Amino acid sequence: MSTARTLDTRVLVVGAGPVGLLLAGELRLGGADVVVLERRTGPLTESRASTLHARTMELLDQRGLLARLGTPPRGGPGHFGGLTLDLATPGPYAGQWKVPQARTEELLEEWARGLGARFVKGYRLTGLEESDGHVEALAEPEAPGGERLRIRAAYAIGCDGESSTVRELAGFRLSGQDATRELLRADVAGIDIPDRRFERHPGGLAIAHRGPDGVTRVMTHVYGAPARPRTRPPSFAEVTDAWQRVAGDDIGGGTPLWLNAFGDTRRQAEEYRRGRVLLAGDAAHQQLPAGGQALNLGLQDAFNLGWKLAAVALGRAPESLLDTYHAERHPVGRRTLGNIATQAHLLLGGPEVEPLRELFTELLRLPPARAHLAAMISGVDVRYPVDAEGDPEGEPHPLAGSRLPRLRFDTEAGPTDTFAVSRPGSGVLLDLAGGPRPGRTVTPWTDGRVRVVRGTAGPDAPFGAVLLRPDGHVAWADGTDRDLRAALRRWFGPPQRP
Ligand SMILES: Cc1cc2nc3c(=O)[nH]c(=O)nc-3n(C[C@H](O)[C@H](O)[C@H](O)COP(=O)(O)OP(=O)(O)OC[C@H]3O[C@@H](n4cnc5c(N)ncnc54)[C@H](O)[C@@H]3O)c2cc1C
Repeated sequence: MSTARTLDTRVLVVGAGPVGLLLAGELRLGGADVVVLERRTGPLTESRASTLHARTMELLDQRGLLARLGTPPRGGPGHFGGLTLDLATPGPYAGQWKVPQARTEELLEEWARGLGARFVKGYRLTGLEESDGHVEALAEPEAPGGERLRIRAAYAIGCDGESSTVRELAGFRLSGQDATRELLRADVAGIDIPDRRFERHPGGLAIAHRGPDGVTRVMTHVYGAPARPRTRPPSFAEVTDAWQRVAGDDIGGGTPLWLNAFGDTRRQAEEYRRGRVLLAGDAAHQQLPAGGQALNLGLQDAFNLGWKLAAVALGRAPESLLDTYHAERHPVGRRTLGNIATQAHLLLGGPEVEPLRELFTELLRLPPARAHLAAMISGVDVRYPVDAEGDPEGEPHPLAGSRLPRLRFDTEAGPTDTFAVSRPGSGVLLDLAGGPRPGRTVTPWTDGRVRVVRGTAGPDAPFGAVLLRPDGHVAWADGTDRDLRAALRRWFGPPQRP
């Protein structure tokens, strides 16, 4: 590759969408040098995802970002394939929260920049090669006349969205299905039609919501209409015709501000890592954005990957730690794509799915069924596989592998909670039992990788001591010293020499 300018970095993140931005911040928090390459020069102008779920709100809290976001408005009741679903789950952020994607990106970029992430904007990735011990990327300026750029990095991460160039250049395989059906969508000014929440008409589905700015978002699907191969958005006439057929209103006199069609594509990269190249967010999985899960799933990928990649890129942890990213997030992605496919069937199916919808309606009235789906969509029920190195005879602690819910407790410095202790981004040995033992065992890892936090909580605390990973998942709880040492090695690398 012949280029005019060369940049060196530990980690190259391609794509400054929400996933790339969160990942960049996490990498900086873990101490790794990061360059973010983005073809856009300005902020997102499209209206895209607007829903944050409970687990995403928790992870923003775990980095102290909620204070900057303020309290977003609540998103009202949730749904499962258009059937009302109360998203209540235990925890402080139950339900859904309305934050326009552009605002989420602004928040995350400001945070990542503040932590020292470097941005190269207005450049498009066009080449990627992996050779001994590094990757080399080639980027072309979007504006004519600029110089090409060569970036050398130890690792490159594709956060470049559903048509990921990284995925293609690095030879990742996607498996799944192309779209068979699609929703047409338009943001329209100057119309006055009733709001419609997942209305099923004889010919199709109609959804309309007028926002506080007077703009109405309409979405429609004509039952039985196949998804079309598209290289550009639908015309306004296509949307107005479909809307009139389904809902009966004439919206052709309005002004279309944004037109879009999205299908029920369901595809997932077969591997999330190939050597020194990894994928996260929409680059790793393509889905109908039903119930706003696409963005939340991607942000949670980044939260799982960032601290691991920082530790490996800085040589603090073995390469095997990076493999746990695929091992943990691929099954979560597969499960989410499965629930989205089910929802697409309930939402876009014609009269033939009515019996199924009636059955689901009955099931959703059962408290355990409702709670199960609410926890799944909110992302709070994710439990990563528990380490097999532990005592094979013993039962794993009920918290092991799960994210630790918020629990308030007191320390010598004052009251705090289990989300706040994760803010510096290191691991935490949280000891509410007061014994010297776990703290002593952890000492060879207290070189910045793990902090010991001691406190007291009420008698209802569900544990005495836990080892938390930087993403707030429980690596060990109330087990033996041997298991604690195994968990420390597994998640934080070898002990520091005395
Ligand atoms: C048109 C559209 C409408 C959507 N509507 C909704 C919705 O209503 N509700 C919902 O929940 N979800 C919606 N989504 C999904 C949601 O926006 C995504 O899940 C989310 O943006 C994923 O974040 P990401 O960071 O993985 O990818 P993206 O947000 O797609 O970010 C990828 C970034 O990579 C950059 N990039 C791409 N290729 C290159 C390259 N070669 N070189 C350099 N930079 C590159 C892009 O410019 C972009 O900034 C929508 C998505 C799209 C595309």
